[in-house]
Amino acid sequence: MSEHEELLAELRALRGYVTELEESGMELIPLDIAEPPPEMAESVVVPIAAESEPVYAPAPVTEPEGLDSIRLEMGECHRCQLGDGRTNLVFGVGNPRARVVFVGEAPGHDEDLQGEPFVGEAGQILNRVITRMGLDRQEVYICNVIKCRPPGNRNPQPTEIEQCQPFLLRQLRAIAPEAIVALGTFAAQTLLNTKEPISKLRGSFHDYCGIPLMPTFHPSYLLHNRKNTDLFWLVWDDMVQVLKKLGLPVPDVQRKGR
Ligand code: SF4
Repeated sequence: MSEHEELLAELRALRGYVTELEESGMELIPLDIAEPPPEMAESVVVPIAAESEPVYAPAPVTEPEGLDSIRLEMGECHRCQLGDGRTNLVFGVGNPRARVVFVGEAPGHDEDLQGEPFVGEAGQILNRVITRMGLDRQEVYICNVIKCRPPGNRNPQPTEIEQCQPFLLRQLRAIAPEAIVALGTFAAQTLLNTKEPISKLRGSFHDYCGIPLMPTFHPSYLLHNRKNTDLFWLVWDDMVQVLKKLGLPVPDVQRKGR
C-alpha cells in the first residue's frame, strides 16, 4: 500500500469512529476517553457538533450612548433659566456619525423658532462654507454650546454654560468626530476654557477632550463684515486644515480680490 493509500485508509477509519460516537449522542471527544482505532497514532479532541453552544457567553459589550437617548434625557429642559424663554430647544442636526462637527454659540431668533441650528442668514453662510469644502449639511453635524436662545441674543451666563455644556460633551462623545470646528469667540473660548481672542486661537488645532478642534470666525461675523473678503479666506484657510486632517481632498478655489 502506498503512503497516500495508507493516509486515506486512516482518514476513513477516523471518520467511521467519529460517526459512531456522534450517533451514540456524544458531542465532544475528550482526550482522556478517546480511544481511536489502532491505526491512529495519536488521539485528538474533535468537536463533532460544529454549532454547539459555547460554554461561556461573551462579556456584554457596552453600547456607546446615542444622540437620541441624550435628547430624551434632556426632555423639556429647565435646568437653567433659558428654558423659560425659549420657543424650541435646539439640540443639533446632521449625521450622528459625522466626521466633523460644527459648534456655535447659542440659537438665535430663527433657530429658536424652527428648532434647528444655523438656519438664518448666518446659517446660509455656514452652508456655503460646508459646500465649498465639498461636503453637505446632512454629512456633518451642527449644534451649539447652549441649546436655548438667550433673551435678546445676550451672551450666555456662566451658570447657563455650566448646566448646558455637559450635554454638548455627551453629544460629541456619542458622535466621536475626527475634528470639531468651533464657530466664533464664545464657542472657542468656552470649549477651550480660555480668554484668548478668536483671532489668536484660529489658524491652528487645539485639543478638546482628545479631539482636534479648529476655532474659526463665526458666520455672523462674516455676515456683518461681508465686504472684508480677507475674513472669508481666513475661514477657508482654517477649513483647508480641517479637510487635510480628515484626509479629504481640498477643492481648488480661486481667490479673487486678493
Ligand atoms: S440652555 Fe441648556 S440647560 Fe438651559 S434650559 Fe436650555 S437645554 Fe436646559
